[in-house]
Amino acid sequence: MPFSDFYGNADVVNRLRGMLAHERFPQAVVLTGPQGSGKYTLALMVAKAMNCLAPKTSDGLPDFCGNCANCTHIALAEDLDARVAEAIDARENLREADKKETRLFVQTHPDVLIIPPDPPQLMIKVDQVRRVIDTIYFRPAEAKERIYIFTDSAFMKEAANSLLKVLEEPPDFATIFLLAENAGELLPTIRSRSMTVGLAALPVSEIERFLAKQRTDWNSKQRALVARLSQGAVGRARSFDLVAYTAARQNALVVLNSALRASDHSELFKITETYRAGAEGREKTDRLLRTLYSLLEDLLFLKSNKHEFVRNTDIEGELRRLAELASFDWITAAADGLAEVERGMRRNLLRSLALDAFAVGERR
Ligand SMILES: [Zn+2]
Repeated sequence: MPFSDFYGNADVVNRLRGMLAHERFPQAVVLTGPQGSGKYTLALMVAKAMNCLAPKTSDGLPDFCGNCANCTHIALAEDLDARVAEAIDARENLREADKKETRLFVQTHPDVLIIPPDPPQLMIKVDQVRRVIDTIYFRPAEAKERIYIFTDSAFMKEAANSLLKVLEEPPDFATIFLLAENAGELLPTIRSRSMTVGLAALPVSEIERFLAKQRTDWNSKQRALVARLSQGAVGRARSFDLVAYTAARQNALVVLNSALRASDHSELFKITETYRAGAEGREKTDRLLRTLYSLLEDLLFLKSNKHEFVRNTDIEGELRRLAELASFDWITAAADGLAEVERGMRRNLLRSLALDAFAVGERR
């Protein structure tokens, strides 16, 4: 998988490759961009290009082979969710005393250490940074460059302070990547010791072109919908769960219809019955609430004659009919009502009851 497989933000990718070509790659890079924009993918690609045993060039810039021992070992870390799940499982199987001492890492190559946020707090902890400090001053064993990738910007205070010490004097043969949705999530003192490089959200049309190649199983209407829902992030578009989204949206429409026009709520109650307690029900309810918000937003766009912003374009006709029934005030009140449902869920109020109350309460 060479650099040409990275979709979008060609200027940023070429800038990084240019720095590689001139051997002026910074010791620490803050790589920013929305969730799913490819920060992690790009960091791994740079790690391969730095350490490839049969380095290639393309378009006059450094690239990697994808087949040598270094490239293939680094590539094993590509499925980050799977690797992190394995690390969590491994820790769960430890003795109670060891469990507490063990921090999460993903390491598929001896010189490439990936540092994910450590559950249950999901933050980078000081012991994780200590591992970086303990190893970073040793020359790499099999690679040219030691690579550290922090996959999240949520640092515990002590961890951030320890990281600062490393950033003050990193060795020449190490590169640290800090991934963040916004650079502002990191301490200014960390940012000032790093170079910040940003991946921008892609335009809807570019995501549609990407999906036309990658998701031929979807028709053009479905691709248009996913492109609008992915918020400019290729990673989100690629892994979008269209089946789950469509199911949630179907239910969300019943809730809205029920709230806006039904005198009889039997359809609604049939649906809210299916929202049960437990983790699975929780996820399903979260998805429903998110979908309800996005439909309410679309209704606002339609009412303000900003139909170019509407995301659920494939059901625009139905949304127009709902928009005619709903006033601006009603939409605002409904959004407040949803926030109330969310608060209720945090207090573990029975989900189905909270949803029923929402739909019945928002009746015009
Ligand atoms: Zn290679």
